[in-house]
Amino acid sequence: MSASDTHVILPGATLGVLGGGQLGRMFAHAAQAMGYFTAVLDPDATSPAGRVSHHHVRTGYEDAQGLAELATLCAAVTTEFENVPAAALNRLAESLPVSPAGASVAIAQDRAAEKAHFVKCGVPCAPYAVIETAAQLAAVNDALLPGILKTARMGYDGKGQIRVKTRAELAAGWDELGQVACVLEKMLPLAHECSVIVARGRNGDIVNLPVQRNLHRDGILAVTEVYAGNLPAAQAEQAIAAAKSVAIGLDYVGVLCVEFFVLDNGQLVVNEIAPRPHNSGHYSQNAMDVSQFELQVRCMTNLPLVQPRQHSATVMLNLLGDLWFTQGETAKSPAWDQVLALPGTHLHLYGKVDAKRARKMGHLNITAATPDQARDTALQAAAILG
Ligand code: ADP
Ligand code: MG
Repeated sequence: MSASDTHVILPGATLGVLGGGQLGRMFAHAAQAMGYFTAVLDPDATSPAGRVSHHHVRTGYEDAQGLAELATLCAAVTTEFENVPAAALNRLAESLPVSPAGASVAIAQDRAAEKAHFVKCGVPCAPYAVIETAAQLAAVNDALLPGILKTARMGYDGKGQIRVKTRAELAAGWDELGQVACVLEKMLPLAHECSVIVARGRNGDIVNLPVQRNLHRDGILAVTEVYAGNLPAAQAEQAIAAAKSVAIGLDYVGVLCVEFFVLDNGQLVVNEIAPRPHNSGHYSQNAMDVSQFELQVRCMTNLPLVQPRQHSATVMLNLLGDLWFTQGETAKSPAWDQVLALPGTHLHLYGKVDAKRARKMGHLNITAATPDQARDTALQAAAILG
C-alpha cells in the first residue's frame, strides 16, 4: 500500500473536480458543507460548478497548464464528466490522488470495453457485436436484429443511437453514424429499468445506495422512484451484488452507477456504467442519511464509508428546460412557490444561464413517510408544472 492508500485528507484541504456541470456543482456543495475548499476545471466561465466553487481553472481538459494549476491547488481530484480524457486523469495522478482512476473511466467511456468488462465479471448484458469495420458489419448474426446500434464512444441521453430492424437498416445506420466504432445490441423486451450506485474506497470498503427504479422519456431520465418494494427483493439483491462485482472487477475507487434492464421474464441485464454520481442517485440528497455526493467526497479523501440508510420514501422528478416554455415560446420560470407548498418537496436548480428544451435544469426530490404519499405528491407537483 502506498501512502495515498491510507492518508486521510481532512476538511480544510482543497478538493478538485474535472468538469463544471451540475454533478460538479452538487459535489462542490457537499464538499463545502463538510469544510473543504473546492476547485473546478472547466473551460466555460458560466459553468454550474465553476460558479459555486472557490477556484475555477478555466481551461480545456487537456491543457497542461490548467492541469498543473489544478494539481497545485488540490489535495485530491475527482471527475464529474464522463468524457474527460483518461490521459488528463493519468497526468494528475502523477502528483496527487485521483479517483476514479483513468483506467476505470476509459472503460466506462467505451461501450465495447464496458461490455467486455461485464462479460469478464460474469454479469449478464444484452447480446451484442462490436462493429468497427465493414467486414464486422457483414458478419453480424441475424439473431441480433432487431437491435440498437450505438456509437462506442460519446453517447449520452439516447444520442448516438439508431434502432435497426433489418440488415439494410443496420448498414444505413452505420453510415449515418459516420462508420465510427459501434456496438450493435439486441433489442430486449424491457419490463423496467433500474440502477444501483456503489461507493468504493481505496481500502476496498464498499457501500451501496438502494436500487433505483427509473423511467426515461425520449432517452432522458424523467423519474426515479426509491422505496422498499419498488422491485422484488430477489431482483434488488441481485442488482446490488452485480453492481458491486462490476466495481470490484475494476478495482474502482469512487462513486459508480450501474444501470440495468429488467426484462419481461424477470431477468436482470446490465446496461452501462457511469464513473461518477448519477442523475438516478439525486434523491439521496434528501432521502438518505448520506448523499451520493458526500460518498464521492468520502471516497476521494479516504474518510470512512458507512452504509447509507434511507429514511424516507422518495420520488425524483427531473426538471428539463421544456418546463420553462409551457406557456409558449418565451422562457418563464415555473411556479416554484406552488410546488414548494406541497409537503416534502426539495428543489434543486443548477444555475444554468439559459433554459433550453431537453436541457437538465434541475430536479425535484419528493420525500414522504410512505411510497403512496411520495407518488401522490409527485403527481400533484407534475400537474402544477404542466
Ligand atoms: P445512454 O448512454 O444514452 O443512456 P443507453 O444505452 O442507456 O444509452 O440507452 C438509452 C435507453 O435506450 C435505455 O435507457 C433504454 O431505455 C433504451 N435501450 C438501450 N439499449 C436497449 C436494448 N438493448 N434493448 C431495449 N432498450 C434499450
Ligand atoms: Mg443510459
